[in-house]
Amino acid sequence: MRRVYPLILAFAVAIGLVITFSYLRERSGEVKPKQILLGVETCAECGMVIREEPHAAELVTEEGVAKFCDIGCMLLYRVKHHPQGEGVRAMFVHDWTTKQWIRAEGAFYVRASLYTPMYYGLFAFHSREEAERFAGEGAKIWTFHEALEFVRRQGEGSE
Ligand SMILES: [Zn+2]
Repeated sequence: MRRVYPLILAFAVAIGLVITFSYLRERSGEVKPKQILLGVETCAECGMVIREEPHAAELVTEEGVAKFCDIGCMLLYRVKHHPQGEGVRAMFVHDWTTKQWIRAEGAFYVRASLYTPMYYGLFAFHSREEAERFAGEGAKIWTFHEALEFVRRQGEGSE
């Protein structure tokens, strides 16, 4: 029986190390977007089922991930629940050109009279050039904060 104890101890230490390292990696590591179960998960702002991946967005806090059907829904949620960005670790939108996840804070935004799930008509791009190519000559390209301001004003108008 005596030989079993060192084994149990080694095992416990190993488990402890694994938990500690995964915790540290989680804390310090780069925040990544979570996969969305399309047709199943619902938008944290409007409650609609999320069906279209290219329009979907995510907001990550210490508590977890909020998922959205439309870029506008995420921006409105950010305005309502994190007005100064407090507690927000990262935000993600899809690049309309590549359909890949990109960081929302550094993206360029175009408002177009085209369909999006909640009719905000907002499209995100990783570069200003791509946004201009999509929007056409002379169109307004928004930064994250300009897009946020647009949704904030829209929200005020509808109340
Ligand atoms: Zn929504």
